[in-house]
Amino acid sequence: MIIVNTCAFIDSAKEESIQTILEMAAYKEDRCQLLIVCGCLAERYRDEILRELPEVDAVVGTGDYAKIADVVRQANLGEQVVLYGHMNEPLAEENRMLATPGYMAYCKIADGCDNLCTYCIIPQLRGSYRSRRMEDIVSEAERLAEGGVRELIIIAQDTSRYGIDLYGAYMLPELLRRLCAIEKLHWVRVLYLYPEMITDELIDVFAREEKLVKYMDIPIQHADSQVLRRMGRHLNHEDLTTLIKKLRSRVPGIVLRTTVIAGFPGETEEQFETLLSFVCDMRFDRLGAFAYSQEDGTPAAKLPDQLSEDIKNERAGKVLAVQEEISLSLQMDKIGTLMEVLVEGYEEESLMYFGRSAGDAPEVDNTVYFASEDEHAPGDFVMVKILNADTYELVGSAVLE
Ligand code: SF4
Repeated sequence: MIIVNTCAFIDSAKEESIQTILEMAAYKEDRCQLLIVCGCLAERYRDEILRELPEVDAVVGTGDYAKIADVVRQANLGEQVVLYGHMNEPLAEENRMLATPGYMAYCKIADGCDNLCTYCIIPQLRGSYRSRRMEDIVSEAERLAEGGVRELIIIAQDTSRYGIDLYGAYMLPELLRRLCAIEKLHWVRVLYLYPEMITDELIDVFAREEKLVKYMDIPIQHADSQVLRRMGRHLNHEDLTTLIKKLRSRVPGIVLRTTVIAGFPGETEEQFETLLSFVCDMRFDRLGAFAYSQEDGTPAAKLPDQLSEDIKNERAGKVLAVQEEISLSLQMDKIGTLMEVLVEGYEEESLMYFGRSAGDAPEVDNTVYFASEDEHAPGDFVMVKILNADTYELVGSAVLE
């Protein structure tokens, strides 16, 4: 049985999902008895999937993950199963199997989104914002820590809004304090903070809690006030500038990650230049730039003055080129410093261990390579002296204790 959990955020994600379904469908000729498609693509294109991909035995929407065992049973009886319709239900609390290496785990604290950015399809696919109860999250984190997890990564479509639906208040600061009190956790990392909800209380928690890595992932999406307004974002250029300066002064050394969209409908050359100079001035430690993707069913898709793919890609490429230079210069500044690194593996070719610093989230950020005379296992934390750098990699050697 193969279950494909899909994404449908933007075109490239949809293509990857479809490609994966097709690849998995090939196993139906051999050992695979059931092919099940769930997640956002299934939520968005259920009819098309059933019509175009007869190999698929079951399609499950985003609100019905918890019923996957029933779906399998039914599909095993030879029925084609289609299950939808519970998108806004409270999130199910289930035992989970870790799909990540044993030393790290993602922990989802909420699902859905109420921000309604005009370019984004997610609220239609994941429903309105629903937080998990704090005690459920904390006990899950305790279980994970007991099972060997050292780095807990907090995720949601918008982590900063946590608690507002359940408790009538923004409770992320309190949740983080409680997670940092779990003895066996070594790092707690938070992804996807919406800039508007980064309160002084939250900044204080980042400044004070030692286990909370000094790393904030704040997708700003743009920096021109008019484009931000058309995107349905709640902050303008000045607000973003103030926020970033405040974060840097209140949490010295904080690593800031962001993502931006280039080529939003109607983005003028001048508005794009505002974005580009903001990226130059703010010198984000990590940055992803994407060409705007026109998504059916979103308000932005109907806006006039959609830009050509060439212009969008060219602008995203310009942002990335600027960021590459910034990244290289920030990386060079690290030479000579000491850094705690979470070991992720050993590379035979270079005879070096590799891993991540506190400033690097898995998959999206940079890698630290280091030589060591000691033996290390994935999940160990090692102090490394940085000796060399390039744009996205640091190289050093372990400091023996
Ligand atoms: S905050 Fe994120 S998930 Fe929510 S609508 Fe905006 S881009 Fe989409």
